[in-house]
Parts: sequence; structure tokens; C-alpha cells
Amino acid sequence: MARYTGAVCRICRREGEKLFLKGDRCYSDKCSFERRSYAPGERGQFRRKLSEYGIQLREKQKVKRMYGLLERQFRRYFERAERSKGVTGEVLLQLLERRLDNVVYRLGLASSRREARQIVRHGHIQVNGRKVDIPSYLVREGDEIAVRESSRGLARFKELAESVGSRPIPAWLSLDEESMKGTVLRVPAREDIEAPIKEHLIVELYSR
Ligand code: SF4
Repeated sequence: MARYTGAVCRICRREGEKLFLKGDRCYSDKCSFERRSYAPGERGQFRRKLSEYGIQLREKQKVKRMYGLLERQFRRYFERAERSKGVTGEVLLQLLERRLDNVVYRLGLASSRREARQIVRHGHIQVNGRKVDIPSYLVREGDEIAVRESSRGLARFKELAESVGSRPIPAWLSLDEESMKGTVLRVPAREDIEAPIKEHLIVELYSR
């Protein structure tokens, strides 16, 4: 299935929650969801009662879209989590959080995961001193993530230097604002992931 290229605010309205897909706009009163929190479409204002399957499906769609993944990619994370020794739902969220594009976003080096993915793809990020341009790269405890020296002069990063640190950083990461360098202090625990996700619904859906 192709990546969704339509208006991203429709996704938040469809899922009935702010998913913070559009960067700074999401934190301002220009957020579409603040003005129209009902689903898009003619009958969007009439909320349907969902079946159990529908509720599970919507939760999976929400998380998949939050992290900007395709069904195939999301399914692969689930299968990997299922094979692990831990609790499947928790490991799934850990894997998603450990993606390099997510970490760049969480550190405040990009205003959205979408922008973070582009920054990584364009080769502006280094991990432990080496360029990594794979958004799905999974960070490990002790990894150091930074904007590459050669990219810091770009307008995008000069602007960023003024706003970096304005968003709270999760407890499993730390950021040196001066050098725009982040460190993975530990693998995220479930309580570190504050997004309102009911991962058990995803496990139930894929276990049908
Ligand atoms: Fe969602 Fe952000 Fe659009 Fe608001 S501005 S509806 S949070 S993507």
C-alpha cells in the first residue's frame, strides 16, 4: 500500500485525537483538530458505535500513522515483538520509539516525525560519530545522536539552535542543547512512552 500523501490533519480528525503530525502548527491554535474535532466527510459529525474489531483496528491505525509507517513495516515490528521474550505490546512500542527518526523528533531536532525522517534521509544525522541515513535504524543504550558538523551551518539548523530545548525530552534520552547532541540513557520503559496508546488492542487485533 502506498504512503498516505493527503492532508495530514484529516488523519487526526479520523482517529479522534491529536497525533502531532505537522510540527509547530500542532502546538498552536491553528491546529485543525482544535477547531473541528469530528471525523472528516459528510457524516463525520455523526460518530458510529464501533465493533470490538473496529476499536482494535482504529488503535492500530492510529499508532501506525503516528509513527508514519506502512502496514507492512508495522506488521514486521509486531512480528519481531512477538518473537521477543518480553510483553509483546510493550516491546512493539519500544521498537517504534527506538527508531532513529523518532529519536530525532523526541530530542527536538525536528518539529515532527515526518521532518525528522527527511533530516535523517538527507544525511544530516550521525550516530556515534558516523553518518546514518536510515530512519528505521534502531538506537541502543549509550548511542550518541547529533546533527553532523557539516550540516550545522544550514538555515534549518541555525533556526533550530534557537528553539531546541523548548519541548520536554523523555526521561530515557538526554540532550546537550549547546552541541545539539543527544544520548540514549536507556531503552524506553512503558511508562516513558506517554502517548495515549492501548497496545493490548493491537495485540488482540493481530492475534485474531
Ligand atoms: Fe493533527 Fe497537528 Fe493537524 Fe492538529 S495541526 S490536526 S495535531 S496534524
